[in-house]
Amino acid sequence: MKIDSPLFDSIRVKPGKDRRVKNDGPVCQWAGCKEKATNFAPKGPNTEGRWHYCVKHVREYNQSYNFFAGMKDDAVLAYQKDALTGHRPTWKMGTGKRKAKPDLSALGGSADPFGLFDGTGKEQKTRVETRVIRNAERKAFEALSLEVSATAAQVKTRYKDLVKRHHPDANGGDRSTEDRLIEIIQAYNYLKSVGMG
Ligand SMILES: [Zn+2]
Repeated sequence: MKIDSPLFDSIRVKPGKDRRVKNDGPVCQWAGCKEKATNFAPKGPNTEGRWHYCVKHVREYNQSYNFFAGMKDDAVLAYQKDALTGHRPTWKMGTGKRKAKPDLSALGGSADPFGLFDGTGKEQKTRVETRVIRNAERKAFEALSLEVSATAAQVKTRYKDLVKRHHPDANGGDRSTEDRLIEIIQAYNYLKSVGMG
């Protein structure tokens, strides 16, 4: 078949589809957003490139610019995706279903394969990871009245102690402590699910 034949052109070009894509332009790069991108936002003072965002998300991005500046693209997207669930696990009693912990694989690992930024790079990565996970975990540690630096063994010990103390059976059948007990159990289950209990 001759490439330049009129027939080939009529098959190859799908006018409806192509035109639509062209007119729609770029799509917002905010995780989970499908709006038309009408704005640009710089990725950071030391980072090449720009994000394409819709009006709503360029505002949101600009408000948290200092937070995102310098983050790797994958980390920004991972954080935005996690933000859809409010940076916390959706705790539900009885269903056995828990929201998985935020995906941190995007935050590092092969970022600096030659160790060029050894030390500082590691520090940066740790800081970003801390930002992403701290809300869910801080809340869980708080529920157990523990510092976030507590070890898994400390978490377990505190959990057993709190359950004993807040269990209705230990309070003469008083069920008013039950909500607190549920909070404690949920917090412990979450920490256990991320390997900290
Ligand atoms: Zn958007």
